[in-house]
Amino acid sequence: MKGCSKHICPNCVGEEFIKKLNCDKGKHRACSYCSNDSPTLSVEQLADKVEPVLENNYWKVDRDVCVSAAQQVQNVVAKELCVADEIANDVASEIRQRGNVYPDSGNFLYIHDNSGIGQFGSLWHKFENCLTTKSRFFSPSAKTILDEIFGDLSKLNSLSGASIVTIAGPGGEFQDIFRARVFGDDDQKLNSALRKPWIDLAGPPSEVASAGRMNAHGISVFYGAKDELTAIYEARPPVGSKVVVAEFSIQRTVRLLNITSLKSVEAKGSSFDPSEVRRMERANFLRILSERMSRPVMPNNELFEYLPTQAVADYLATEADFDGIIYPSVQRGHRTSNVALFHHAARVEEEEVMEGKRLSVEMDVLDNPFGIVRRVWEKPERDRKAPSIVKFENPDTRPETLKIKLENVTNHYVKEVKMDTESFIVPRDVEPLAWLP
Ligand SMILES: [Zn+2]
Repeated sequence: MKGCSKHICPNCVGEEFIKKLNCDKGKHRACSYCSNDSPTLSVEQLADKVEPVLENNYWKVDRDVCVSAAQQVQNVVAKELCVADEIANDVASEIRQRGNVYPDSGNFLYIHDNSGIGQFGSLWHKFENCLTTKSRFFSPSAKTILDEIFGDLSKLNSLSGASIVTIAGPGGEFQDIFRARVFGDDDQKLNSALRKPWIDLAGPPSEVASAGRMNAHGISVFYGAKDELTAIYEARPPVGSKVVVAEFSIQRTVRLLNITSLKSVEAKGSSFDPSEVRRMERANFLRILSERMSRPVMPNNELFEYLPTQAVADYLATEADFDGIIYPSVQRGHRTSNVALFHHAARVEEEEVMEGKRLSVEMDVLDNPFGIVRRVWEKPERDRKAPSIVKFENPDTRPETLKIKLENVTNHYVKEVKMDTESFIVPRDVEPLAWLP
């Protein structure tokens, strides 16, 4: 090939970055493919540009492997450069002759690797390592790493077109969230929760909050779901238990990071442009991270596995001005979403019980073996004088974000839990006996 090289003009290349490079840096002569007199790049120069893309963005598979996504080198060249077959064949044969990228590249097929994450993978690894082995507290180096990963999210949003930030509350995308609490067979606790669900269903107070996906021990977060059934699934009640679900309206505008839509962030851009490559790597990384943040965690691993997501939640709340996060419901096969409101946005407005009134719960024990609650009464005190109520200054200074919808509190008895599994037959092969001499 050398010495009798062909030349390509900008009109014969569809890929925008290479087209522009050709216009700016190309050598003026006749195009070998359309004969136009114009700036041109040589086949060798195009091969120089394609080689790193092939190396960084594609996996090599054996020609015998039957994978529909696998392509020949010339097809990869045609797709990446947006050129006609004739040009693609010439560039591909130059790449094959060089044998730089993969020796014998003619004998292999190539599959596009969507997971190109560049240095973000090692940054995350460093971050996890720092959390799990060095400091469980938020360290400056962890912050630097998260700045790199999450910095300027809204810019990524506008570039991809997907909505990564969801606004909820008045005028927002949704206004209500549901929260469920499991009561087993403890009717006393159930009664208490039904009398004042704005307290008992609001989530645990900080001093008893146990660690969860988005919160460290002692930091209360409001875990809700976008619908009632998902709230019940996520509470993981055993069969035979009673569950109370309350609907809460979001009283003020809240800004949520939508982990679900992070998954669909498309990393569009030129594979040939070094500045775009980094943005694409970040988008790919965020997609993988979103899967990581919403994947199922086995109960025994919770403390360890939740550390990175807790730190990310802490960062999003304090450094990136988010009020919470929307993430797919693992319990419902990612078909619906959960909503976690961070501590500063998790306060539920207290309802006032009229002075001199007493709350009582009426259970339907006789007619219904499950002891389903018939109603909650707000009755006047009979035997006692109305207590004189001393109002204390509430030490909680967070804004009230949620208000319970008392008309939408439901009581459930869990009859069965549905399963959805994938099953595989385990083959059992018998190797013939080898008779040793
Ligand atoms: Zn041309």
